[in-house]
Amino acid sequence: MLPGVKIFDLKKNTDERGAFTEIFRSDWKIFEGDSIVQSNLSISYPGVIRAWHRHSRGQVDYICVIKGAIKACVYNDGKDSKTKGQLDEIILNSETPQIIRIPGEYWHGTMCIGGEPSLVLYMVTKLYDYENPDEERRALNDLLVLDSRTGKPYEWVKHQKTEIKSNDFISKTTCRICGSNKLHKFLSLGPTPLANSFLKKDQLNKPESYYPLDVYFCSNCFLVQLLDVVTPEVLFKEYPYLTGASNPLQHHFSELAEEVIQNFKLAKNSLVVDIGSNDGTLLQYFSKLNLRVLGIEPAHNIAKIAEDRGVETVNDFFSEECAIKISKKYGPADVILATNVFGHVDDLDNFLRGVRQLMSDNGTFIIEVPYLLNLLKKLEFDTIYHEHLSYFAVSPLVHLFRRFGMEVVDVKQVPVHGGSIRVFVQKSLNKKQSQNVTRLLLMEKKVGLESLKTYLDFANEVFLLKEKLIELLKKLKERGNKIIGYGAPAKGNTLLNYCKIGTNILDYIIDTTPSKQWCYTPGMHIPIFPDKKFHEEPPDYAFLLAWNYADEIIQKERGYIQKGGKFILPIPKPVVI
Ligand SMILES: [Zn+2]
Repeated sequence: MLPGVKIFDLKKNTDERGAFTEIFRSDWKIFEGDSIVQSNLSISYPGVIRAWHRHSRGQVDYICVIKGAIKACVYNDGKDSKTKGQLDEIILNSETPQIIRIPGEYWHGTMCIGGEPSLVLYMVTKLYDYENPDEERRALNDLLVLDSRTGKPYEWVKHQKTEIKSNDFISKTTCRICGSNKLHKFLSLGPTPLANSFLKKDQLNKPESYYPLDVYFCSNCFLVQLLDVVTPEVLFKEYPYLTGASNPLQHHFSELAEEVIQNFKLAKNSLVVDIGSNDGTLLQYFSKLNLRVLGIEPAHNIAKIAEDRGVETVNDFFSEECAIKISKKYGPADVILATNVFGHVDDLDNFLRGVRQLMSDNGTFIIEVPYLLNLLKKLEFDTIYHEHLSYFAVSPLVHLFRRFGMEVVDVKQVPVHGGSIRVFVQKSLNKKQSQNVTRLLLMEKKVGLESLKTYLDFANEVFLLKEKLIELLKKLKERGNKIIGYGAPAKGNTLLNYCKIGTNILDYIIDTTPSKQWCYTPGMHIPIFPDKKFHEEPPDYAFLLAWNYADEIIQKERGYIQKGGKFILPIPKPVVI
């Protein structure tokens, strides 16, 4: 960021009535030394650019977006300045409100991005003098503002960061489980690119798609969910997440397979179907035991990997139609698995009609989903991204399955993905419910999972976590420390984009997944390198984005710690280890 340009987070207090935000206080640090004497409001339509201008007689501008989103650009052409030629692009939106300070000597301007008009509040340190305004203007395509990446005049639209194609996503108005419209938005992480849309180098200067990332609570069935649904074809066509690449998951899956085989006494040749089977890792454990296995996987690159490993895989999205085809060809399934898949499904009704269709009368449907209670308790807000449409507790699931003549017969808590629940579901005629189910239902009510206030408090804590984390990272950076990111999981991108952590803080990120190496993170554009680099040039601090594998990673990197290297854990509160 150019010297003197500052960004300040505002605190949005949301409750049942709406929201309340303080925008100006004379005792705030950001305004130190500046006195605001005039305030203006501008409305711009999508795509409108207001640029370039500067105030060479010293006026300072403070900008805050009241509604919609803008891109603000600040450019320094100061002759003797160290930062001559530097251009800062800053995205501002009303959902995660911020104020930016722009010193008058820099050329600056704004562009309305996103699909709606933007309302922008300006607070300035000079009264506008109509006779002799402190305002110098230049045309948009003026040669003055060069883009250092291209050496050509800066093109606002070409580098427009928000490009939302309306046919890429839909915004629902009713609850995914119960159809109610009693929906309350309690957390907004701002317009965010897709968490798995890692960029190749040549994509860096191309428009990047951003989508709303807002979280809602249904006060009818208590489901926590996203309502802006990016079409699955856009989300999952080239999914880079490979199960086999992660050792802890392999262990988890072998444990799951053993449990299923022991508890359900599957006969030889029983059919086990895995929905969202990824690279076939889980099914391999079943096929070793002479069970028939079938994977269903929508990402064609990953389905192919499974096939190559000998796991028969249907390359499709699971649906009622798909289930009918499969049951005709393979017969009914004795076990249907969906690990870390159910939360990705928008049309749960269609999905469950498919499960009912495919499952034998004595069959069991087993899902694993991250448990909402852990998300709330451990402030795992970064597990929120566009792929994850629902955040489940037991109570909404019971409600959902009953609508399809199925019953939750058992629930088990498992440690994977920051804390998940393994839910066993059978057709209601077989119903023998374990006490675990009633126990968890009671507990969920007791801890407030059915109350909006719980979620508003959570949103407040997320905001405070962000403040603390940025403060810690900035402090370490100012002391001259080298900080890198350890791991580039999808959830890391929610955290990086929400906290606006870029290459100003992290020099680079290392990751063991080959498909992510030499790419850049979506939105913040941090380069990702193979983990070799971490050992060759150990940093002072490693920021642990893959915090759910903290134990394994810290164990693996004992050598780094012994030599004085330190890890920063962001969640549930920023700590240095
Ligand atoms: Zn609902």
